[in-house]
Amino acid sequence: MNIHRFDTKEAASMAAAKRVAALIQQQPNVTLGLATGSTPILFYKYLHQLGPVMDQVQSYNLDEYVGLASHHPASFYQYMQTHFVIPFQLRPSQLHRPSGDLSPDQSLQEYRHALKGVTIDLQLLGIGTNGHIGFNEPGCDFDNDVHIETLDATTKNANQASFGSADLVPDLAITMGIKSILSAKQIVLLAFGDAKADAVAQMIQGPVTNEWPASVLQQHQNVHVYLDHAAAAKLT
Ligand code: PGA
Repeated sequence: MNIHRFDTKEAASMAAAKRVAALIQQQPNVTLGLATGSTPILFYKYLHQLGPVMDQVQSYNLDEYVGLASHHPASFYQYMQTHFVIPFQLRPSQLHRPSGDLSPDQSLQEYRHALKGVTIDLQLLGIGTNGHIGFNEPGCDFDNDVHIETLDATTKNANQASFGSADLVPDLAITMGIKSILSAKQIVLLAFGDAKADAVAQMIQGPVTNEWPASVLQQHQNVHVYLDHAAAAKLT
């Protein structure tokens, strides 16, 4: 794993944005796997400032809450509109995502079909305080591709702000699996703040175990981890 440590999340986000902008410049028809959450907000902002030409880029989202309509303000569809599609003026055909508008089975079928034969050149990831990547929660099956996952209580608590309370966070999510994530050619993971320090240490220095799903990234050949000071604090 290539670990890039910075004093601030601003510096880390800019460095990650420069890596992705350089890839887009070199390979204009790149396929990106994209993440949501509070962590990559600055990354998207800085990527936009760097101004790569995005008209041939294709993007695939990691995950979505099951049964959460796309017009719901907490849906990842809305997040992507705000932080990616609108600023970059993307065509709807450039953004692929699991749908919260369909039944779990329909959503699964549709997204598996969309990803068939697709190679993700660069997968962007955050990490949960419990070590999840995408919504692959502790105890997940490393052999899964796109699937439905039951959300951990830790995840529901962490994500409650967008819903008003943890009880209102959906129980289920559709997510790319560990197998899907590991099939990306390159992985860029961002982690900021002291709440992520344990998960980061387990990911990088712990044993590979599904109790800390991100530890599986030790088995990928091309991973770049961008950390601020606080998230790196428990690395030895
Ligand atoms: P966060 O979520 O960026 O909102 O902390 C990260 C994640 O759950 O992967």
